[in-house]
Amino acid sequence: PNGWTPEAAREKAARAYELDRKHIFHSWSAQKSLNPMVITAAQGSYVWDGDGNRLLDFSSQMVNTNIGHQHPKVVAAIQRQAATLCTIGPAFVNDARSEAARLIAERTPGALDRVFFTNGGADAVEHAVRMARLHTGRSKVLARYRSYHGGTDTAVNLTGDPRRWPNDHGTAGVVHFFGPFLYRSQFHATTEAEESERALQHLEQTIVFEGPSTIAAIILESVPGTAGIMVPPPGYLAGVRELCDRYGIVFIADEVMAGFGRTGKWFAIEHGGDVVPDLITFAKGVNSGYVPLGGVAIAPHIAATFDDRPYPGGLTYSGHPLATAAAVATITAMAEEGIVENAAEMGEGVLGPGLRELADRHPCVGEVRGVGVFWALELVRDRATREPLAPYGGSSPAMTEAVAAAKAAGLLLFVNFNRLHVVPPCTISEAEAKEGLAILDHALTVADGHTV
Ligand code: PMP
Repeated sequence: PNGWTPEAAREKAARAYELDRKHIFHSWSAQKSLNPMVITAAQGSYVWDGDGNRLLDFSSQMVNTNIGHQHPKVVAAIQRQAATLCTIGPAFVNDARSEAARLIAERTPGALDRVFFTNGGADAVEHAVRMARLHTGRSKVLARYRSYHGGTDTAVNLTGDPRRWPNDHGTAGVVHFFGPFLYRSQFHATTEAEESERALQHLEQTIVFEGPSTIAAIILESVPGTAGIMVPPPGYLAGVRELCDRYGIVFIADEVMAGFGRTGKWFAIEHGGDVVPDLITFAKGVNSGYVPLGGVAIAPHIAATFDDRPYPGGLTYSGHPLATAAAVATITAMAEEGIVENAAEMGEGVLGPGLRELADRHPCVGEVRGVGVFWALELVRDRATREPLAPYGGSSPAMTEAVAAAKAAGLLLFVNFNRLHVVPPCTISEAEAKEGLAILDHALTVADGHTV
């Protein structure tokens, strides 16, 4: 597209890489040892690297491009909006912002019909927590171990993964609990039903011992993403809702990664039945990350807290026209083109069965889990002991080699510790899914070499 040629890409890539290494300070990284990949163009499910090679993007760029790369309707909507009105202050009204809020409100469960727009996921979490605290007059927030909620101050302290450790200065009022995860059960459970019941008992005990009158909110990802794509067992989310009702706690569902089609539903919490949280945080898939955007969808009783009293928070770019125009085009195209349904079908019909078949043949695969286009392979050194192929919070030659083998064969994966995440765009075709599974087969053979 746009005169892209491998030669031009190579030339640009060399300079981009050089300037990056000189001037860019990268996220979550030791700067000196980095060797980041150059991406020069993208289309649909594919990206092109600095050497002009095409790679199938099973990472969706941080689980972001739900609608695929360079969707023509979204690109055109951004261009149209840019030609008309690039930016306005947050206190003004604009059609892109208003329409985006309507389209989101129509899709959220229950009556979450008010939207506060943010710049991304972490600040959505910050604001959801602030709303919950002001609504309840309480300060503590309970969050899961094995979770990710963002890199800003409160969000990173809520996060239940090792990225919190160096950032945690003992933020007052954040308490972690274990959620359900049968494969590595904290509750010695052997069935999903047991895991769910015991995880709920543990959560209730946490509430009781922390003091219900001190707890503003429980935040959890409807399906934890970065921490391992653990689809909650039936009944768990309904149980959390009941506990929140019983103790007057605000239920925040973090749908930043799982929302907007990723799981084959508009919101992942819909898999839990009729569960309606009080606040939903979203970002990424809302406009497939084409322009930074996040937000909080708010239930009427929480919004009403600020009917006569000012909400003490705001952002210059809240509901930015370019970002919300992209959201309108993304949500509209997803609805018109059956993209959420495609994610469900690809998960059920192709990715799920394909990944399970790989697991049957590769001893390095301890567990396959997921839904829609949201899957994780938990790699182990030993299936019997479930010893992970990389330590919690770390990497290993086995994982590095497997990922490099996939990349050399034309497949980009999302990797975390001992897990390979298979998270392609929701628009993925059957042929592309099968192409990715074939390369994954090869990468898993490399990882098998590191098993006992
Ligand atoms: N919550 C969840 C569930 C996420 O997955 C992420 C990002 N991966 C965030 C919050 C933070 O979003 P952002 O990086 O846009 O701040």
